[in-house]
Amino acid sequence: MFDALIEFVRKWYDTAQPIPLHAPTFTALDKEFVLDAIDSTFVSSVGRYVDRFEERLADYTGAKRAVAIVNGTAALQVALRLLGVETGDEVITQPLTFVATANAIAHQGAQPVFVDVDQDTMGLSPHALQSWLQANAEIKDNIPYNRHAGHRIAAIVPMHTFGHPCRIKEIMEISQQWSIPVVEDAAEALGSWTGRKHCGTLAHAGVLSFNGNKTITCGGGGAILTNNKNLADRAKHLTTTAKVPHPWEFEHDEVGYNYRMPNLNAALACAQMERLDAILKEKRALAHAYQDFFQDQSWANFCKEPEGSRSNYWLCAVAMKNETLRDKFLQTTNKAGIMTRPAWKLMNELPMYCNCQSGLLKNAKLLRQHIVNLPSGVRSNG
Ligand SMILES: *Cc1c(COP(=O)(O)O)cnc(C)c1O
Repeated sequence: MFDALIEFVRKWYDTAQPIPLHAPTFTALDKEFVLDAIDSTFVSSVGRYVDRFEERLADYTGAKRAVAIVNGTAALQVALRLLGVETGDEVITQPLTFVATANAIAHQGAQPVFVDVDQDTMGLSPHALQSWLQANAEIKDNIPYNRHAGHRIAAIVPMHTFGHPCRIKEIMEISQQWSIPVVEDAAEALGSWTGRKHCGTLAHAGVLSFNGNKTITCGGGGAILTNNKNLADRAKHLTTTAKVPHPWEFEHDEVGYNYRMPNLNAALACAQMERLDAILKEKRALAHAYQDFFQDQSWANFCKEPEGSRSNYWLCAVAMKNETLRDKFLQTTNKAGIMTRPAWKLMNELPMYCNCQSGLLKNAKLLRQHIVNLPSGVRSNG
């Protein structure tokens, strides 16, 4: 039953070698920029590639500012801190996500609260969010609290799952109503748009990742996107050890982090950025080919980009009829050298987060049981 798919993937990638889920690809330009950074001796925390990458990112996404960070997890943590998340607070997020989303909340000393996702977007559900808030939250002196636990509800972190934009506009309306700031985890969503806005630019802050498995990579890296100039300046300051500018004096005015993206990584990021459109185009062609293929298959449904949005199709996904079929599929494809994998184990099922509060997680549980990711990378030279 799965042979046709195995054949389809082999033909697309045109190789008898194992086919990974999403491998990075590099060109001569990547090498040229990295060597140039080495030759300049500015490989670390200062250099022109960092500034250049931040400008390119702001340009591309339409965010007023972009701040390059050492990785996506650190970027999330800093964004949460700058929006006021403190020890003992609660932060609402979705259970269907990569562990970094919940970890960043925990790194800030806050507790994640898990609220269900929508079935079509696979991202945080505005309906579930509103229901959870109505059942659990109250506003006192303009500050939202969990009326049972007494904790402050300090932020909401929706995630654009596999690059499919979630219902961020509706989430922003709810956030306004309850006075809770929002950080978009757009780590998987470079090149994804809600209407005419790039994912990560609709909330108070957004976060991108340039890890090795993402749409473009610089080895390890991340960024904070924001339209708030003050927040961007604070992010820069905090992630560069809170050093006060001075030609020779070491003065720091708060407990900062060494979270800035090194210039060496930024050089690679700049080079990869040049190929972003070409990469997105090829990924989209593959997504459409999968979509056509699955039209004739009764055993799985292809997860299309939500209406009114444009997905980068970071990881193509299909929904299977049930868990047994999913497991059979995973076994057969992986044995045939085609890497496929299920959706992440839900955050509320991991040992460190299993005692956190959560709403009804009906859709997240269904998706966890049914979803499989398919090879989605571009062919070797883009
Ligand atoms: C990749 C990813 C991150 C950040 O990862 P880093 O490896 O720290 O750059 C955060 N959230 C999600 C949903 C991700 O997929």
